[in-house]
Amino acid sequence: MGHDLISAPTTHVADHREPRFVHEDQEAAASAKLAALEERTGKKPNVLVVLMDDVGWGDFGCYGGGVMVGAPTPNIDRLAREGLLLTSAYSEPSCTPSRASIMTGRLPMRHGLLIPPMYGMPGGLEGEVVLPDLLSRAGYVTQAVGKWHMGENLASQPQHVGFDDFYGFLSVSDMYTEWRDPYFFPEVVYSDERTEWVRNERFNKCWVHATRGEDPENVEEVTIPVLSTLDDRWAAYSEDFIRRMAGNERPWFLYHCTRGAHFDNYPLERFQGSSPAKHPYKDTIVELDDIVGRLVAALEETGQADNTLVFISSDNGPEMETWPDAAYTPFRCAKGSTWEGGVRVPAVFSWPGMIEPAATDGIFDQLDLFATMLHLAGADDLVPDDRFVDAIDQTSFLLGGGGLSNRKFHYYWLTATFSAIRVAEYKYMIASITDDDTDVVNSGGFSGVLQQYGYGKMFNLYLDPKEQHSYLIRKLVYIELIQSAMARHRRTFQAWPNRPAMIDSPRG
Ligand code: CA
Repeated sequence: MGHDLISAPTTHVADHREPRFVHEDQEAAASAKLAALEERTGKKPNVLVVLMDDVGWGDFGCYGGGVMVGAPTPNIDRLAREGLLLTSAYSEPSCTPSRASIMTGRLPMRHGLLIPPMYGMPGGLEGEVVLPDLLSRAGYVTQAVGKWHMGENLASQPQHVGFDDFYGFLSVSDMYTEWRDPYFFPEVVYSDERTEWVRNERFNKCWVHATRGEDPENVEEVTIPVLSTLDDRWAAYSEDFIRRMAGNERPWFLYHCTRGAHFDNYPLERFQGSSPAKHPYKDTIVELDDIVGRLVAALEETGQADNTLVFISSDNGPEMETWPDAAYTPFRCAKGSTWEGGVRVPAVFSWPGMIEPAATDGIFDQLDLFATMLHLAGADDLVPDDRFVDAIDQTSFLLGGGGLSNRKFHYYWLTATFSAIRVAEYKYMIASITDDDTDVVNSGGFSGVLQQYGYGKMFNLYLDPKEQHSYLIRKLVYIELIQSAMARHRRTFQAWPNRPAMIDSPRG
């Protein structure tokens, strides 16, 4: 008999942990593989996370994009063919909440980073228990490269939350360049007074290098020509890190976050016009695919590929309010929303010899990386027990060969509003951002109105992946299962105190 996602019960792990499926055969197969690998290599596995910015579910060829949307992605497609391609992987609706959830294994309502801090706004990871710090305690070398965007204040910077080294910028791409570009900000560029005013705003205009426990050192001011070179230089830095780690007796965690393809895109000169689409966004996708190829080549050339879990993903759905500097998604709405277009992201795992080639629709929440990586590090006991942890250990989903996720429910939060829950192919939505299908440029995302439904909407994501037909009245048989899961989820917020949320902002 197969495993039915609706009827199968979950296992209680601990009061402060999300309940999970336990698939005994998968668990045993994964454990045996890991034990055999460790015996061969003498250490725990390395992890390379490549997190892209605002790249859409459909951008890569392996998700039906690629050539079809004027930007071939042969390197990522190859990893997907040889690895595990997930079709139901989820982020949060925007950058900072997603990234902080990976770092903490906790939903934004718990860690408090509900919205991206912009232009020097206060708030960040400070005070949370974070993955790189725990991996350091488990013996890992920890390296962060590229975009940070989890707080610019010193205590929230990467080198103060467990990374040995950081080489990148502390915020987000547009903040460094939009006010410098006469096309987008003529009222600043052509006004000495406004330019001076922006320059005096309290955010760092430079990208930085930092080492553990130290103050960051400015590398260079991020002008538009400099910005166009960042992804290339950051990739070179990560390539060098991978090569230096070959032969090191300690395992390593490389958290490589690209600048692209967040608006505004100014691709490296040699990629300008390189895509069939000739558009800067598409040229950037081609550049990002090339970077994935470079990092994987460095792993292969140094003999580390078979001891390294590689994860390629994006931190949220496409930003459609900046179209055409925007990605492709086949789903409804976009970044900023809890419609599938906002939070369903491309996600490819690769690990030669350990992960069998497959595609799976099992639910994976990006924050599951937290518990999964700690398990790979042999450090399950470092998962904090003084707070609720949403992350589920998905090791056996990735390595066990059965293709069954250990996660039964996915919870959608729209900043401080509980928006929806998914189980199996059903999504029950009680609140959302409105979108407007008649407006092809500003199709929702951050621009809509928060609405709550009197009775809720139910979508069957197999029959209706675009969420256009509420199926609730015919599917009430599932409602008790769903509402009891929602009630249990809500009770975790009463039983475990959260951090106060960061102030809200019109930026969303
Ligand atoms: Ca993003």
